[in-house]
Amino acid sequence: MSTLFSKIISGEIPSDKVWEDAHCIAFRDIHPVAPTHILVIPRTPLVNVADAGEGDEALLGHLLRVAGLVAKQEGLSDFRVVTNNGAGAGQSVFHLHLHVIGGRALQWPPG
Ligand code: 5GP
Repeated sequence: MSTLFSKIISGEIPSDKVWEDAHCIAFRDIHPVAPTHILVIPRTPLVNVADAGEGDEALLGHLLRVAGLVAKQEGLSDFRVVTNNGAGAGQSVFHLHLHVIGGRALQWPPG
């Protein structure tokens, strides 16, 4: 399924990109909930974590590693990595993405 994130990957929709490699890109969220709010997305259009199969294990690990790298790039040692799976959990774009959120004190548990 094509989503607006496919258009961000292709460049059809512009984004403030902070990371790019063969497997994923990362860019600033258009509605940041914290001083740093970056989305890490695979180039492969997986819907969400539940859509990932055995063959996607290396990709999932890579996305998590890139989340750590972009946080470091932002100068963050304390940050949150979260992914919403399904509309009931807050997913609004159905292309897998990790939110990297930081730069302020974060409350737990989330809503
Ligand atoms: P979700 O709600 O699916 O977990 O997260 C989707 C995120 O994508 C939201 O935080 C939303 O602000 C962000 N978003 C939606 N449209 C755009 C866009 O066109 N550009 C960027 N950079 N972020 C977007």
